[in-house]
Amino acid sequence: MYLSIATTHAPATDLGYLLMKHPERVHETELTFGKAVVLFPEANEARCEAALVLDVDPVGLVRGRGQGEGLLSQYVNDRPYAATSFLSVALNKAFRTAMNGESRERPELAKTKIPLEVRVTPLPGGADMVRAFFEPLGWDVTIEPVAGAGRYVSLTLRGAHRVSDALSHLYVLIPALDADKHYWVGEDEIEKLLAKASGWLGSHPQKEQIAQRYLKRRSSLVKVALARLAPEDVEEADAETPSGGTPKLAPEEALEAPIRLNDVRLDTVHATLKDLSAWRVADLGCGEGKLLQRLAQDRKFSRIYGLDAAARELEKAARRLKLDRAGAPVDRITLLHGALTYRDARWADVDAACLIEVIEHLDAERLPALEAIVFGNAKPRYVVVTTPNVEHNALFPSMAIGAFRHPDHRFEWTRVEFQDWAGRICAAHGYEAEFRGIGADDPVHGPPTQMAVFRR
Ligand code: SAH
Repeated sequence: MYLSIATTHAPATDLGYLLMKHPERVHETELTFGKAVVLFPEANEARCEAALVLDVDPVGLVRGRGQGEGLLSQYVNDRPYAATSFLSVALNKAFRTAMNGESRERPELAKTKIPLEVRVTPLPGGADMVRAFFEPLGWDVTIEPVAGAGRYVSLTLRGAHRVSDALSHLYVLIPALDADKHYWVGEDEIEKLLAKASGWLGSHPQKEQIAQRYLKRRSSLVKVALARLAPEDVEEADAETPSGGTPKLAPEEALEAPIRLNDVRLDTVHATLKDLSAWRVADLGCGEGKLLQRLAQDRKFSRIYGLDAAARELEKAARRLKLDRAGAPVDRITLLHGALTYRDARWADVDAACLIEVIEHLDAERLPALEAIVFGNAKPRYVVVTTPNVEHNALFPSMAIGAFRHPDHRFEWTRVEFQDWAGRICAAHGYEAEFRGIGADDPVHGPPTQMAVFRR
């Protein structure tokens, strides 16, 4: 990943003063996710070029958090490769003074527009959007495809700008170009963006698109994802809520509605956690946060994490918990966008982890990764797992034989299958498990939901 800024302003070597970096040296800046190196491939009176090379280290991302070796081989994505938000964080760190428009040695020049040439490669995003973002700011844009790299381009910008403006354009627009993933955006992010781009974003014709895309992408770094692995993409399974109408029940809820099984289940989990005095809890696969809400209302619970792979569910949870309001209990409750099949140090300090109606959403070949993460790596004292008891389906009047309760379920287990699975986990990871039914217990088919409480 490479970004360079060059000028032909005379003497061009003043660029070193503007960026506060001596052109004859190599400058390294340590970052949470790797390091940034600034060096000057060319530095003479006529032309001077500073390059920022970013070395994103996914292994260091995790190891830096004080963990051992593990499932890193599962880390597969393009983060280290693309010039994304990581680059924007690196820019801010390596060139912070310059970005603020300050220069000890050349204060006047810092306020002056000088001819600049910027190159960024590889950059995600289509050529049209790249042009629409940079051209209105007065850049002459050249785009070349990067051979063999699909949606990536190599971008060259030319124009007369203050160095601080150029850095601010890059800082905001590069992550905005890469906003294909969706994250929850908090209000303070908007303030930060306005502070960074106050001089130019307000009058940009694409300002709304830029702000939205930038905020989505940045919040993943600043708030959620900076020091961890990017989440895998998980299908968002729940039924849509038709706009304006009454919310449609999710299939599972509709089926189980007569007994409000979901409420009974969550009340049971809440009571179980209380009995265990497990006051620090991670709800893994928290969905729209119904368990989180119960725990949040109970002051005994001192640390509450909700993790889910579906950003839309987390947004609903944030609204349910009123996390966007002033005075929200953000010290007690943290929502984490992430995948259960990747190691995640953010919720490691808990007494109990909950997997409430979650395991059946994972493909059989993914389940061992979850087991390794939760029971092998995080290994909290307690783990509470609930899952449907497939035997009970025979008692749901509207249900086709052999069907599952929700179209996204990959399996539903009998009581014996669940207990076998739990037994294997206990043997592998040193836990003991107790089993309970939740909901009306049928003498033949058993309860609708089965729960295991693991302890070690
Ligand atoms: N626990 C909640 C929601 C259950 S639905 C409740 O009882 O109401 C299952 C949830 O697990 C969904 O929100 C889904 O997005 C999440 N999920 C499925 N696979 C996941 C994974 N690999 N990582 C993180 N979350 C996952």
